[in-house]
Amino acid sequence: MRMFQVCVCGQPLRLNEQPTPQPTGTQVLLKVLAAGVCHSDLHLADGYFDLGGGNKLSLEARGMKLPVTLGHENVGEVVAFGPDAKGVKVGDRRLAHPWIGCGTCAPCRRNEENHCTAMRSLGVFSNGGYADFLMVPHPRYLFDIGDLPPERAAPLACSGVTTYSALKKVTTLKSEPTVIIGAGGLGLMCLALHKAMGGHSAIVVDIDPVKRAAAKQAGAAAVVDGMADDAVAQIQKLTGGGAWAVIDVVGSSQSARLGIDSLSKGGKYIIVGLFGGDLTLSLPPIPMRALTIQGSYVGSVPEMAELMELVRRTGLPAVPVTTRPLDDVNAVMDELRAGKVIGRVVLTPAN
Ligand SMILES: [Zn+2]
Ligand SMILES: [Zn+2]
Repeated sequence: MRMFQVCVCGQPLRLNEQPTPQPTGTQVLLKVLAAGVCHSDLHLADGYFDLGGGNKLSLEARGMKLPVTLGHENVGEVVAFGPDAKGVKVGDRRLAHPWIGCGTCAPCRRNEENHCTAMRSLGVFSNGGYADFLMVPHPRYLFDIGDLPPERAAPLACSGVTTYSALKKVTTLKSEPTVIIGAGGLGLMCLALHKAMGGHSAIVVDIDPVKRAAAKQAGAAAVVDGMADDAVAQIQKLTGGGAWAVIDVVGSSQSARLGIDSLSKGGKYIIVGLFGGDLTLSLPPIPMRALTIQGSYVGSVPEMAELMELVRRTGLPAVPVTTRPLDDVNAVMDELRAGKVIGRVVLTPAN
């Protein structure tokens, strides 16, 4: 099988070949039909997250072992499975939930594998879907996509469940406007799911006029230029005095500052994006304004199941998707890094 792997951090993914593994135990082998390219793949290829102040969070120190095949937004067709894998058959088309935990630590035992202390996530800590085949350790991580197009279902595995989980943390979703910072693949998914979940209205912030236009077209009630001098004032005016909830899918020093400054008293800032940076905050306003700052990392298996149920009821999120051959992966990552991608690019290894 062919696979595109991080072999040396900071270098393009390298095409490697190895014998296709045979599933044992509860394992399920998928032929990869669709593999979404996510912004976090850029960090994974670089090998670190930017902590701000010149500091880096090394992924190798966090347990990423090289070489590793990237790709964590995958849909595949079942081609083989071990003797203990129940509930699957050859030919099934399934979405692979990539946020896999150790199964034994406290977060895993309370069904929050996404908070596991020793994650085994597909495409991060174990081989992912930028390949002909993908091994999934257990059928519990597979979700039937019915007759959904694989390339449009694949982004549900990361951008879908990540934004779904963040939106679930917004207690005022149906009664107040929600501010979404960022209108890339994650931001447009967040906007689409906000609507599907019955959200009141969404105000989308982006520094790129092309992405603001895409958000407006996708149903944002208003868009704001994050670089505008009066961006905070604009958000306060649009929300009638300050936002109850801001979901920041960028996660930079600038976007965090904007998000927190835009909150009303009692408001909540939810940070999802991993762009990187740091932030110095004055402490008295946090209690005096009763602010909540909450991180949100991908999503759990139960949340993935809820999201699939939502999609069955309301249809697929209308996020623009472009398909490209697997061999284009390095070019696609360069385009993503340059900010040239609208919506999601999905690789189609089986084509
Ligand atoms: Zn991702
Ligand atoms: Zn665990």
